[in-house]
Amino acid sequence: MKTMTCKQLGGACDKEFRASSFEEIAEMSKQHGMEMFQIKDEPHLKAMDKMGELMQKPEEMKAWFENKKKEFDDLPED
Ligand SMILES: [Zn+2]
Repeated sequence: MKTMTCKQLGGACDKEFRASSFEEIAEMSKQHGMEMFQIKDEPHLKAMDKMGELMQKPEEMKAWFENKKKEFDDLPED
């Protein structure tokens, strides 16, 4: 298992997610993001705005995703 925080995954808080694959951790962070969206948490809404802009540009989104995946792969197992 590896650990990444909401912030490291493009979010806004220090909540930690633990998973054994990047796809899994990305999904957890997405679920958390949707919960924060529903309660209209300001910092998360801002972070999501930024991610939304990134998603408009598939090349940049792909680069961001690959970068994060590499960051995840480089983490030590805990
Ligand atoms: Zn968060």
